[in-house]
Amino acid sequence: MSHETAKEDFSLLLQALDASISGIILTDNRLPDNPIIYCNKAFETISGYQRNEIIGHNCRFLQKEDRDQKEREKLRNAIRNGESCIVDIRNYHKDGTLFYNELYMSPIKDDQGRVSYFIGVQNDVTHRKKAELDLRHQQQLMEKRISERTQSLKESEDYLASIVQTVRESLIVLDPDFRVLSVNDHFLKTFKVTTGDTIGKLLYDLGNGQWNIASLKELLENILPTNNPVEEFEVEHDFPHIGRKLMVLNAHRIELEGQYKDRILIAIEDITDRREIERRKDDFLSIASHELKTPLTTIKGLVQIMQRTVPPELGEKFRSVLEKTGVYVDRLNNLIAELLDVSRIQTGNIELHKDLFDFDKSVHEAVDTIQAATKSHQIQVSGNTGEMISADESHIVQVINNLLSNAIKYAPDHREIEVYLSQVSNFVKFSVKDQGMGIRMEDHKKIFDRFYRAGEIQQRFPGMGIGLYICDQIIKNHGGTLWVESEPGKGSTFSFTLPLNTQAT
Ligand code: ADP
Repeated sequence: MSHETAKEDFSLLLQALDASISGIILTDNRLPDNPIIYCNKAFETISGYQRNEIIGHNCRFLQKEDRDQKEREKLRNAIRNGESCIVDIRNYHKDGTLFYNELYMSPIKDDQGRVSYFIGVQNDVTHRKKAELDLRHQQQLMEKRISERTQSLKESEDYLASIVQTVRESLIVLDPDFRVLSVNDHFLKTFKVTTGDTIGKLLYDLGNGQWNIASLKELLENILPTNNPVEEFEVEHDFPHIGRKLMVLNAHRIELEGQYKDRILIAIEDITDRREIERRKDDFLSIASHELKTPLTTIKGLVQIMQRTVPPELGEKFRSVLEKTGVYVDRLNNLIAELLDVSRIQTGNIELHKDLFDFDKSVHEAVDTIQAATKSHQIQVSGNTGEMISADESHIVQVINNLLSNAIKYAPDHREIEVYLSQVSNFVKFSVKDQGMGIRMEDHKKIFDRFYRAGEIQQRFPGMGIGLYICDQIIKNHGGTLWVESEPGKGSTFSFTLPLNTQAT
């Protein structure tokens, strides 16, 4: 090759190197500190330095003060061992901005195999590097969030588990095939079983088939397809080890999005003792009222004899005492009669003596009797039904009396009481409206329970809270309904309906 051709080739080579978009340098490994002896144009662009500021320097000037990079160690080892290497290293532009340099260093060896030069090819990979770093950062953030979320889930789970274990009700969770997935401690204690006897077993196989109850089976099998919960289902069963138990069951389908669906949660409340106490209380009331009734009937008879045979010389005072005694004996008699009614209702021994009677006439008579005994209130009757109904007249009159007495009693400062009579479809309807204290919404149903009295009224309005219970039962027995519409301070309207065609009952 002639000298000229060699020069031409060399300049072509330099031009080619300058055309590259990668920065290219050559360092002379034989000179002290391995200085750069050549750089192409792209290297000037990437670094921001000019060729005269580059030549003669060791590459490290590109790292400025940022010397503590583990990539440098890798690079140094490669140079020391005369090997090639590739690193992503943090470099700094002349104006101070950071860029990531993907640097490929490769040794050039002489005939004896000694490393005379290194060629370095560099690319600015800041964008890629930034994206990678961002990604890693996002990942770390995500991991942190997940771990926080897991922790908080765990805390809520522990919290829920402690509630489940603390409630004094037995809880049991079934899978869609009615196999037991979990039970709480209360279940294990109540039924004297272990988790081994229970978990994974079919509900109906538990404890020698003690839960294999046809009606329960039907209800549970209905929950999943229809989503209808089982509420207040009473089960009485003779259990091994623990004897006869009366329980109330509530069962619901439960679903936790993404985790499971079609599970059934059953809550079991043992009401054996409560029922027993209620039964004893009812027995006591029934016995006590029977026992009181007999001597009281005798006292009433004796008072009547005294009233008839009182000698005229004993005077007015004695007569009035006797009269008052009679009134109080009657009052006591009524109270005891009410208690007896309650126990008769409880035992299902209430007898209806139905006859055809004029409803409007009975209402007017009842109103007249009550009006005669009260001066404090004015009872106004409007409307009429014009119907003869078939019902137990004495019971219906008892209901009317009770509602009217309540209207008087609970509206002491309001004189007006209105009674409305009407025929609605094939029912007669009776309403009594007072302007009294009224009743809170949440008590509208409860006042028809026995012994329930709304609010703190005992001091001002003594009573036993059984009148409305008896009324409700009587109206129900006749196939009608009894209800109240009321707001506190705005008076109350009690109404009942009775069917005209009473064959049903
Ligand atoms: P008692 O009057 O002996 O309490 P009842 O069964 O007749 O028993 O009534 C139950 C409760 O209903 C009463 O205690 C009272 O709180 C409420 N109540 C009944 N009638 C009225 C009324 N007209 N106005 C306001 N409250 C009433």
